[in-house]
Amino acid sequence: MTSTDELIPVSHIRQFLFCPRIPWFKQVMSFEPPEQGWVSQGKRWHASQNPRHKRRLNQYIKGPSKHEVDVYVCSRSLGVHGYIDELISNGDQGVVIEYKVDKNKPTLAQKLQLMAYAIGVEESLYLKVAAAVLLKGDARKQYPVDLSSELRLALFKVVAELRKTTSIHRMPASSATEAKCDQCEYLRYCNDR
Ligand code: SF4
Repeated sequence: MTSTDELIPVSHIRQFLFCPRIPWFKQVMSFEPPEQGWVSQGKRWHASQNPRHKRRLNQYIKGPSKHEVDVYVCSRSLGVHGYIDELISNGDQGVVIEYKVDKNKPTLAQKLQLMAYAIGVEESLYLKVAAAVLLKGDARKQYPVDLSSELRLALFKVVAELRKTTSIHRMPASSATEAKCDQCEYLRYCNDR
Protein backbone atom coordinates (compact mmCIF):
# COMPACT_ATOMS: atom_id res chain seq x y z
CA MET A 1 0.00 0.00 0.00
CA THR A 2 1.32 3.39 -0.80
CA SER A 3 -1.19 6.07 0.00
CA THR A 4 -3.58 6.71 2.86
CA ASP A 5 -6.39 7.00 0.29
CA GLU A 6 -6.00 3.31 -0.47
CA LEU A 7 -6.41 2.21 3.13
CA ILE A 8 -9.65 0.42 3.95
CA PRO A 9 -11.44 1.22 7.22
CA VAL A 10 -11.12 -1.74 9.58
CA SER A 11 -14.89 -1.63 10.15
CA HIS A 12 -15.39 -2.65 6.50
CA ILE A 13 -13.93 -6.09 7.27
CA ARG A 14 -16.69 -6.84 9.74
CA GLN A 15 -19.30 -5.37 7.41
CA PHE A 16 -17.95 -7.42 4.50
CA LEU A 17 -18.54 -10.60 6.47
CA PHE A 18 -22.06 -9.44 7.33
CA CYS A 19 -22.75 -8.78 3.64
CA PRO A 20 -20.22 -8.06 0.85
CA ARG A 21 -22.50 -5.40 -0.60
CA ILE A 22 -22.05 -3.06 2.34
CA PRO A 23 -18.39 -2.13 1.77
CA TRP A 24 -19.13 -2.17 -1.95
CA PHE A 25 -21.88 0.46 -1.45
CA LYS A 26 -19.52 2.52 0.65
CA GLN A 27 -16.35 2.29 -1.40
CA VAL A 28 -17.64 1.98 -4.96
CA MET A 29 -20.93 3.91 -4.76
CA SER A 30 -19.93 6.28 -1.95
CA PHE A 31 -23.24 5.65 -0.18
CA GLU A 32 -22.88 6.52 3.48
CA PRO A 33 -26.10 6.51 5.49
CA PRO A 34 -26.25 8.88 8.45
CA GLU A 35 -24.93 7.44 11.68
CA GLN A 36 -27.69 5.48 13.32
CA GLY A 37 -28.89 6.07 16.84
CA TRP A 38 -27.54 2.82 18.16
CA VAL A 39 -24.04 3.67 16.94
CA SER A 40 -24.04 6.93 18.90
CA GLN A 41 -25.54 5.11 21.83
CA GLY A 42 -22.74 2.55 21.68
CA LYS A 43 -20.07 5.27 21.65
CA ARG A 44 -21.60 7.03 24.62
CA TRP A 45 -21.97 3.72 26.37
CA HIS A 46 -18.37 2.71 25.99
CA ALA A 47 -17.12 6.07 27.17
CA SER A 48 -19.23 5.72 30.30
CA GLN A 49 -17.86 2.24 31.03
CA ASN A 50 -14.20 3.21 31.06
CA PRO A 51 -13.54 3.53 34.84
CA ARG A 52 -15.33 0.27 35.61
CA HIS A 53 -12.96 -2.08 33.86
CA LYS A 54 -9.68 -0.18 33.95
CA ARG A 55 -8.11 -2.12 36.81
CA ARG A 56 -9.01 -5.54 35.44
CA LEU A 57 -7.41 -4.84 32.07
CA ASN A 58 -4.12 -3.70 33.58
CA GLN A 59 -3.32 -7.36 34.34
CA TYR A 60 -2.07 -7.87 30.79
CA ILE A 61 0.92 -5.53 30.97
CA LYS A 62 3.38 -4.52 33.66
CA GLY A 63 4.37 -1.14 34.99
CA PRO A 64 2.65 2.22 34.77
CA SER A 65 0.28 2.33 31.87
CA LYS A 66 -1.87 4.86 30.11
CA HIS A 67 -5.38 4.42 28.75
CA GLU A 68 -6.36 6.21 25.57
CA VAL A 69 -9.65 6.06 23.67
CA ASP A 70 -10.28 6.32 19.92
CA VAL A 71 -6.67 5.68 18.98
CA TYR A 72 -5.81 5.88 15.29
CA VAL A 73 -3.75 3.02 13.84
CA CYS A 74 -2.91 1.85 10.34
CA SER A 75 -1.32 -1.16 8.76
CA ARG A 76 0.44 -0.74 5.44
CA SER A 77 0.97 -4.50 5.04
CA LEU A 78 -2.75 -5.13 5.34
CA GLY A 79 -3.87 -1.86 3.81
CA VAL A 80 -6.28 -0.90 6.58
CA HIS A 81 -6.73 1.83 9.13
CA GLY A 82 -9.13 2.77 11.89
CA TYR A 83 -9.72 3.90 15.45
CA ILE A 84 -9.37 1.49 18.36
CA ASP A 85 -11.98 2.00 21.06
CA GLU A 86 -9.33 1.89 23.75
CA LEU A 87 -5.61 1.20 23.99
CA ILE A 88 -3.64 0.54 27.17
CA SER A 89 0.11 0.92 26.77
CA ASN A 90 3.26 1.01 28.87
CA GLY A 91 5.69 2.22 26.24
CA ASP A 92 6.66 -1.27 25.02
CA GLN A 93 3.44 -3.22 25.04
CA GLY A 94 -0.17 -2.53 24.30
CA VAL A 95 -3.60 -4.00 25.01
CA VAL A 96 -6.23 -3.51 22.34
CA ILE A 97 -9.79 -3.18 23.59
CA GLU A 98 -12.95 -3.13 21.57
CA TYR A 99 -16.43 -2.60 23.02
CA LYS A 100 -19.47 -4.43 21.75
CA VAL A 101 -22.99 -3.92 22.98
CA ASP A 102 -24.02 -7.52 22.32
CA LYS A 103 -23.43 -10.15 25.00
CA ASN A 104 -22.73 -13.10 22.73
CA LYS A 105 -19.46 -14.97 22.28
CA PRO A 106 -17.05 -13.27 19.86
CA THR A 107 -17.84 -13.79 16.20
CA LEU A 108 -15.18 -14.39 13.56
CA ALA A 109 -15.79 -10.87 12.27
CA GLN A 110 -15.15 -9.38 15.71
CA LYS A 111 -11.98 -11.44 16.12
CA LEU A 112 -10.70 -10.38 12.71
CA GLN A 113 -11.38 -6.75 13.57
CA LEU A 114 -9.27 -7.07 16.72
CA MET A 115 -6.51 -8.82 14.78
CA ALA A 116 -6.47 -5.96 12.27
CA TYR A 117 -6.19 -3.40 15.07
CA ALA A 118 -3.41 -5.42 16.71
CA ILE A 119 -1.41 -5.44 13.46
CA GLY A 120 -2.07 -1.71 13.16
CA VAL A 121 -0.73 -1.13 16.68
CA GLU A 122 2.44 -3.05 15.91
CA GLU A 123 3.06 -1.33 12.58
CA SER A 124 2.08 2.24 13.36
CA LEU A 125 2.68 2.59 17.11
CA TYR A 126 5.59 0.14 17.37
CA LEU A 127 4.10 -1.60 20.41
CA LYS A 128 4.04 -5.33 20.97
CA VAL A 129 0.45 -6.38 21.51
CA ALA A 130 0.19 -8.31 24.77
CA ALA A 131 -3.54 -8.92 24.52
CA ALA A 132 -6.62 -8.05 22.53
CA VAL A 133 -9.87 -8.03 24.46
CA LEU A 134 -13.53 -7.70 23.59
CA LEU A 135 -15.63 -6.09 26.32
CA LYS A 136 -19.22 -7.09 25.84
CA GLY A 137 -22.59 -6.24 27.18
CA ASP A 138 -22.24 -4.19 30.34
CA ALA A 139 -18.43 -4.63 30.16
CA ARG A 140 -18.36 -7.22 32.93
CA LYS A 141 -17.56 -9.92 30.42
CA GLN A 142 -14.08 -9.85 28.93
CA TYR A 143 -13.22 -12.03 25.96
CA PRO A 144 -9.48 -12.18 25.25
CA VAL A 145 -8.94 -13.03 21.59
CA ASP A 146 -6.13 -15.40 20.61
CA LEU A 147 -4.05 -13.52 18.04
CA SER A 148 -2.92 -16.73 16.38
CA SER A 149 -1.12 -17.12 13.07
CA GLU A 150 -4.29 -18.82 11.76
CA LEU A 151 -6.37 -15.77 12.59
CA ARG A 152 -3.78 -13.53 10.96
CA LEU A 153 -3.86 -15.63 7.80
CA ALA A 154 -7.65 -15.64 7.76
CA LEU A 155 -7.61 -11.86 8.05
CA PHE A 156 -5.28 -11.40 5.08
CA LYS A 157 -7.52 -13.70 3.02
CA VAL A 158 -10.69 -11.81 3.92
CA VAL A 159 -9.08 -8.45 3.16
CA ALA A 160 -7.93 -9.79 -0.22
CA GLU A 161 -11.52 -10.89 -0.98
CA LEU A 162 -12.82 -7.52 0.15
CA ARG A 163 -10.43 -5.69 -2.16
CA LYS A 164 -11.41 -7.91 -5.07
CA THR A 165 -15.11 -7.24 -4.44
CA THR A 166 -14.65 -3.48 -4.31
CA SER A 167 -12.39 -3.37 -7.37
CA ILE A 168 -15.26 -4.15 -9.74
CA HIS A 169 -18.27 -2.03 -10.60
CA ARG A 170 -20.83 -4.80 -10.62
CA MET A 171 -22.83 -5.10 -7.41
CA PRO A 172 -21.72 -8.32 -5.68
CA ALA A 173 -24.05 -11.23 -5.03
CA SER A 174 -25.21 -11.63 -1.46
CA SER A 175 -26.46 -14.59 0.50
CA ALA A 176 -27.72 -12.36 3.29
CA THR A 177 -30.78 -13.74 5.01
CA GLU A 178 -34.07 -11.89 5.28
CA ALA A 179 -33.30 -11.28 8.94
CA LYS A 180 -30.05 -9.55 8.03
CA CYS A 181 -31.65 -7.46 5.29
CA ASP A 182 -34.45 -6.39 7.62
CA GLN A 183 -31.95 -4.70 9.93
CA CYS A 184 -29.72 -3.35 7.14
CA GLU A 185 -29.42 0.37 6.51
CA TYR A 186 -28.71 -0.32 2.81
CA LEU A 187 -31.93 -2.19 2.13
CA ARG A 188 -33.35 0.55 -0.10
CA TYR A 189 -30.33 0.25 -2.42
CA CYS A 190 -30.74 -3.51 -2.96
CA ASN A 191 -33.38 -3.82 -5.65
CA ASP A 192 -33.47 -7.62 -5.43
CA ARG A 193 -34.56 -7.66 -1.78
S1 SF4 B 1 -30.13 -5.26 2.35
FE1 SF4 B 1 -29.35 -7.36 2.52
S2 SF4 B 1 -28.33 -7.77 0.57
FE2 SF4 B 1 -28.62 -5.53 0.73
S3 SF4 B 1 -26.70 -4.81 1.65
FE3 SF4 B 1 -28.12 -5.16 3.31
S4 SF4 B 1 -27.71 -7.22 4.02
FE4 SF4 B 1 -26.78 -7.00 2.00
